Amino acid sequence: MSKVALVTGGSRGIGNAIALDLLKKGYRVGIGYHKNKALAHEIAEKNSQAMPLKIDVSSVESIQKAFNEIENNFGTIDILVNNAGISQVKSFELLQDEDWQIMWETNFMSAVRCIKLALPAMIKKGGGKIINIASIGGQWGGVHQVHYAASKAALINLTKSIAKSYSKEGICCNAVSPGLIHTDMISDELKKSNTNNFRNIPIGRHGTVDEVSSLVAYLCSEESSYITGQVLNVNGGMNLCE
Ligand code: NDP
Repeated sequence: MSKVALVTGGSRGIGNAIALDLLKKGYRVGIGYHKNKALAHEIAEKNSQAMPLKIDVSSVESIQKAFNEIENNFGTIDILVNNAGISQVKSFELLQDEDWQIMWETNFMSAVRCIKLALPAMIKKGGGKIINIASIGGQWGGVHQVHYAASKAALINLTKSIAKSYSKEGICCNAVSPGLIHTDMISDELKKSNTNNFRNIPIGRHGTVDEVSSLVAYLCSEESSYITGQVLNVNGGMNLCE
């Protein structure tokens, strides 16, 4: 039987590209969606290896329900991609406790909870892959998205701790850290797009979802068996230009 992957936030953007790449590589894939169910269902209608899964990653109950559903249909998870995330542009002084709370639950606690549920079966099987989608903001800090950057920094730290704790059990945990990738999340950035936007990106353009998903697919494969606890940048060299 082919391995089972769960991709949160698979309804569009980077997560959808990851789900499609993993399907192409022959995995069975739970495609998590929250508010936009259409694409996940469309993919599953054409491919029996895909399963649309409604998950609100900010809700413990919703995550548990989705895990039950995928395990009942496909079996336990071999590959977990914590991709679902939100961003919010707001200056630090204006951020309310509620903004911090939602960001933290959606971008960080979601991964903690999914990893906790996925681990026992991975340990039992003697292997598994966990990929957390971080952000360059988690490495650099953020100016108008301090809470977003902090949540991603925590995710990077969690990645290293999980790798330190469970790599001996055959579980590789890595973070993929995108720069600016052409998706809905950076639509405001894209609207004001001009060549000036690229002055801090050596490659001279935004990235594509496929450029992120191909790295994630590699990290899910056995070819990456000696890579764990790492933060892999997909940012067109942006980190060189701080
Ligand atoms: P999009 O805004 O395009 O997509 C976000 C995805 O997350 C959607 O599938 C959405 O589901 C899902 N989602 C949002 N809230 C929840 C929730 N509460 N529960 C479950 N799913 C949820 O974002 P990207 O594809 O750009 O981003 C994907 C990841 O990559 C995020 O973690 C983001 O922080 C990170 N990233 C993106 C960068 C970029 O430049 N685009 C740069 C650095 C990191 P639905 O549509 O069904 O509501």
